[in-house]
Parts: sequence; C-alpha cells; structure tokens
Amino acid sequence: MAPSESQLRGDVVEVGRRLYARGYTASNDGNISVRLDSSRLLVTPANVCKGFMNEAMMVVTDLDGQKITGERNASSEIQMHLEVYRQRPEVQAVVHAHPPIATAFAVAGIPLDRAVLAEVVTTLGSVPIAEYATPSTKELPDAVRKYVKAHDGMLLANHGALTLGTDLYSAYYKMETIEHFAHISFIARLLGGERLLSRDEVQRLQGLRGRYGIAAPAPICADPVESSQAESADCQVVFAPSSPSGERLVPERATSIRGDEEIRLTYRELTALIEDAVRNLK
Ligand SMILES: [Zn+2]
Repeated sequence: MAPSESQLRGDVVEVGRRLYARGYTASNDGNISVRLDSSRLLVTPANVCKGFMNEAMMVVTDLDGQKITGERNASSEIQMHLEVYRQRPEVQAVVHAHPPIATAFAVAGIPLDRAVLAEVVTTLGSVPIAEYATPSTKELPDAVRKYVKAHDGMLLANHGALTLGTDLYSAYYKMETIEHFAHISFIARLLGGERLLSRDEVQRLQGLRGRYGIAAPAPICADPVESSQAESADCQVVFAPSSPSGERLVPERATSIRGDEEIRLTYRELTALIEDAVRNLK
C-alpha cells in the first residue's frame, strides 16, 4: 500500500535530519522530493536547513513545479527534480545533497566509474558526472537529462550529488552509498590506487541483479573502454580490465570533462604501462 501523505511528510523530515547529521548538507543546502500521487509532489521548502524541518513546512506542487499548497516556496532546485520524474516514471523520490567527499570528486572532475566494490557495481553500476550548470537555472535539468535514464545516482560537476529511488529511503541510501564509495576510493588512491575487478567479474555481478531483484535502470556497457561519456545515456560505463590480474591501468580522466586531451596517470599506472611496452618489445 502506498504510504499516506502524513507518513511521507514525516519521512522527508527524517531524511533531511539524516542528511544534515551526516554532514551531507551544510546550512540550507540540499533538497528532497517524493511523489504523493500521479500528479502531485511533496517538496522541501527553499531557505530552510534540512536538519531542522517539520512536517508542516513541506510544499505540495504539480508536476510542472506549480505550488498547490504550502506556506513556503518550493526548493529552487525543483526543476532538476521535475526532470527526473519526467524521464523516469517509475521513480518515486529524489534526493540532492553536497556530501563532501563525493562532491570533491565532482569538483575535481573525476567520475566514480571504476569497478572497485562488488556491491556498488551490482547496485549503482557507475556514478557519472553531469556537466556543470548554474544551480537553479534550466541548465541543470538539461545536464542531468543526459545521465538520468541509465543511472540512479550521479555527481553534479562543481556542485554535489543527485540520487533517485522507487521510494524515499532507497533514494537516500543511494546518497549514503555514493559518499561511502567516494570515501573508500579516495583513501585507496592515497594508498597507491584501486585494484580493479575484472570485466568477467563485472559481468557476474551484473548477473546478480536479477537474482537479488535489483532493478537497475540500464545494463553495464559491454566495452566501456571503447564507450565515451556521450554514449552512457543508455548504459553504465564501468571501468574494468579484461585480464583478471587486478590491473590499475585506468587513465585518470580528470581533465577530459573540460575538453582537453591531457591524460593523467598515477606513478604506478605509468610504471605498469612502461613495463607492458618493454615486455611487448621482447
Ligand atoms: Zn545543491
């Protein structure tokens, strides 16, 4: 049975409290929305700290973002939420926040798209970066549109992260997963870099989605090394080496998003490349 409006108001308050308590939002950042029925949304109000909301503060809007009831105005980022609901009819809830480590990846222009954690590969697949857009403008929904059909979570360049789900808590937990994944990736890179899962293992993990009833919006791209970010509209780019040796030969694509040709490698990646080249000469 679908939750009642009063239940959903309480859930939005609770999710806001958790976002703030975990440091995923500061001050009045972030916003949350959930479908009330086929034509109405419950949306967090603008200019309110998400850690200190109450049930009565929420705004009810239609699917064009027009206010139906509520004393306050809806979040200024509502256009981004509306775009998600337009593109993904099955999605019931959207969460936007600025979790610091995931946002640091978004600021550095580094997508979370390496095959590192089995659970992340199985559930989210990859976490791409939607191009930078000025917050609260129509540019932001345009940037999100490119990735939202194939992904339940994405980074927003120089801004934060966005997650969606078939209920409010599943959207919220994906935000936790992204920040946790970012945290682990960050530390693994400090320790010398991630050892990636193989392509075969990624395929096996994808096979588990059906078994565990995980409704991923799109499959993992068959050959992600060949696919570009532009093609990831209908599949999830997950970087994994074809050999099972735990290679780390993934070019750092930190600068590709800015459109230049520079490729950055870690010291180990560079050493491995040189060793490979020397082996091939023999
Ligand atoms: Zn934001």
